Amino acid sequence: MAAKTSIAIIGAGVCGLACANLLRSEGYSPKIFEKSRGIGGRMATRRAKNGVAFDHGAQYVTARNPDFKALMAEAMQDGSAGYWYPSRIDPNTVMSQDWMVGLPGMSGLVKPLANGIDIRLHTEVTGVDRVSNSWCIRTQMNPNGDIFDRLVVTAPAPQARALLASEPSIGRVLDRVSIEPCLALMVAFDDPLNVKIDAQRWDSGDLAWVARNSSKPERDGSADCWVVHASPSWSEKYLELDRDEIAQKLLSLFKSTLGIDLPSMSHMSGHKWRYALTTSPLGKPFLESEDKSLFVGGDWCMGARVEYAFESGQAIASAVTDSFRN
Ligand SMILES: Cc1cc2nc3c(=O)[nH]c(=O)nc-3n(C[C@H](O)[C@H](O)[C@H](O)COP(=O)(O)OP(=O)(O)OC[C@H]3O[C@@H](n4cnc5c(N)ncnc54)[C@H](O)[C@@H]3O)c2cc1C
Repeated sequence: MAAKTSIAIIGAGVCGLACANLLRSEGYSPKIFEKSRGIGGRMATRRAKNGVAFDHGAQYVTARNPDFKALMAEAMQDGSAGYWYPSRIDPNTVMSQDWMVGLPGMSGLVKPLANGIDIRLHTEVTGVDRVSNSWCIRTQMNPNGDIFDRLVVTAPAPQARALLASEPSIGRVLDRVSIEPCLALMVAFDDPLNVKIDAQRWDSGDLAWVARNSSKPERDGSADCWVVHASPSWSEKYLELDRDEIAQKLLSLFKSTLGIDLPSMSHMSGHKWRYALTTSPLGKPFLESEDKSLFVGGDWCMGARVEYAFESGQAIASAVTDSFRN
C-alpha cells in the first residue's frame, strides 16, 4: 500500500521534516518541495561572503516532548547539536540550562530527520490544484505539475492561505491565525564588544532580543558576531523599509540600548521575517480537508516554538497514515 501512494510536502522546515521522517518510518516515500536552498526553514543560519555566520531566526530550542527529546539526543550523538550556555546581565531572567543549538548552524538540529528523504531544494511550489481527491503540484520548473494522492502544506499560515485559495473552508480557519513579523540585524565586529552579556531578552521596548552568536558552540571565532531582533511593534512599523535601512536603524537601537561605543565592523546586514512569531495560534496541531487528502500545519498551529512545529508535523504524519487505512 505505502509503496503505491504519493505524498507531497511543501516546506523543509521542522514541521515538514518531522512529517516526512515519520511517514518514511511507516514505509511511505514522501517528496518535499522547498523553495530555499537548505533545510530548516526559520531555524536558519546566514553565512556572509567573508565567512562570518549568524543564526538570524530561531535562537535555540528546548525539548519536553519525548520524541523531540529523542531527536535532540540523536543530533547530539551525531555531533550536529550542542548546548549553549550564554552569560546574561540579569541573573533573575529565566534562562534554563538546556538550551540547544545546531552545529555548525541551526539546521544541524533537524539533520537526522532529513536522512533518506527526497527533498527538492530551490523548488518553490507556485500552485496547487485539486484533481478530484488528488493534488496537482506545480513548480516553476514543472508548470504542468505532478499528481499526488496527499498534499501536506507546512508554510506559515498566510502563505498556506495564498496557495490554498481554492479551499475556502480551510482559508477561513487560516485567517484566524495571526503571525507577527520580526526584523533582524546581523553584525560582526572586529573586536569583542565590551559587554558582559551574551544574550538578553526584553518583553517591552523596541528590541526583543540580542545574542552574541559567537558565544554558541562551534561558531567561527574570528569576529564578534551579534544577532539583534526588533520587537513585534517596531518590526511592524518598519517592515517595508529596505534591508540596509533596517540594519542601520537596528544598529542605532543596539548601540543606544547597550550604551557603548561600537568597534569597527566587518559585516552588517538586515533581514525581514515577515511571518516570524505566531501570537494567535490555531489551537490544534493541524487542519485537514473533509476528504482527508489535504493537511496543513506548522508552528502556527500551537505556538511559536520549534518543538510545536515538530509536534504538528508528527500529528500530520499520523493523520496521513490513517487516511490511507480508512
Ligand atoms: C526571529 C525568530 C526567532 C525565533 N526564535 C525561536 C527560538 O528561540 N526558539 C524556538 O523554539 N522557536 C523560535 N522561533 C520559531 C521557530 O523558528 C518556528 O517555530 C519553527 O522554525 C517553524 O517551523 P515550521 O516548519 O512550522 O515553519 P518554517 O520553518 O517556516 O518552514 C516552512 C518552510 O516552507 C517553505 N515554503 C514556504 N512556501 C513554500 C512554497 N510555496 N514552496 C516551497 N517551499 C515553501 C519555507 O521556505 C520554509 O522552509 C523563532 C522564529 C523567528 C522568525
